[in-house]
Amino acid sequence: MASLGSRVFCKVEKLCHHLPVFLNTFLVFSITGEVSYLVVVEAPLDEEQKKAEWSSRWKVVHLLAQYFMLWNICWNALLFVRTSPSIKGVFLGAEGMGQGWRFCYTCEAHTPPRCSHCYDCRVCVLRRDHHCVFFDQCVGFHNYRYFLCCLLFMWAGLLYATLMNAEVFIVILKEGVTVHSVLLLLIPWIMLISGQVTARAFAFAFIADTCVVGFLLVSAFFFFHVVLLFRGQTTREWYSSRRPYSLGPVGNLRHTLGLRWYVCWLSPLIPSPLPGDGINFQVTGSLQPNQ
Ligand SMILES: [Zn+2]
Ligand SMILES: [Zn+2]
Repeated sequence: MASLGSRVFCKVEKLCHHLPVFLNTFLVFSITGEVSYLVVVEAPLDEEQKKAEWSSRWKVVHLLAQYFMLWNICWNALLFVRTSPSIKGVFLGAEGMGQGWRFCYTCEAHTPPRCSHCYDCRVCVLRRDHHCVFFDQCVGFHNYRYFLCCLLFMWAGLLYATLMNAEVFIVILKEGVTVHSVLLLLIPWIMLISGQVTARAFAFAFIADTCVVGFLLVSAFFFFHVVLLFRGQTTREWYSSRRPYSLGPVGNLRHTLGLRWYVCWLSPLIPSPLPGDGINFQVTGSLQPNQ
């Protein structure tokens, strides 16, 4: 019985870990589906603009742009999850052990500078940035590029979807700023449950809301990581006000995104070898926290 209970608990725990991934995937595909529908069927939504109906070529350009962003989000996310940033299987060497090296009692291993233990992944991670709960994966030296590019295309996709959905807001509000229209935009769930709106109106209002909220959240997160990228810092180093490994803006870009940093963000399939090994880092500043 005990083993059955623990097995059920393990399964539930695993499901909880994967829930954000399912939710993320569902939202990304729902938003893409809705925006594709807007382009193919509804564009432009406004009756007055019907004269200037979108040409087929213009619709194709929009659809290609959408699916280029969707493909980049999915492929980068897949490579981010599948590229292990941990010390497992990495020869850490002993001859270089010196300043910044520590001993991890959980992994029972000497670990290099910028490496730290993740209690979710249960392993030490090279140049660890943080543990991403949305993908249940650590962001580290070997997968930082995929994480950042996924974030870039999520940001671009949400900006695009928000602009496309602006027409939904305009159409709803053009009918008049009534209590009904404001509530539909602010609390579409409650309006649906109480039977005050159709499922179609709910779906549009819900996705338009998700785009705006998602865009604001992803913007804050994305620009924070762009700042870290240019400063050559990890999130941990940011909190301790240290940047002892900064190589200058271009040097930091090369070190994080690889030798083809200027083009690799266009596609995760463009090879961009990292110049370092995630173990040895050039020290260019004080290792002590700034006072
Ligand atoms: Zn460890
Ligand atoms: Zn982790």
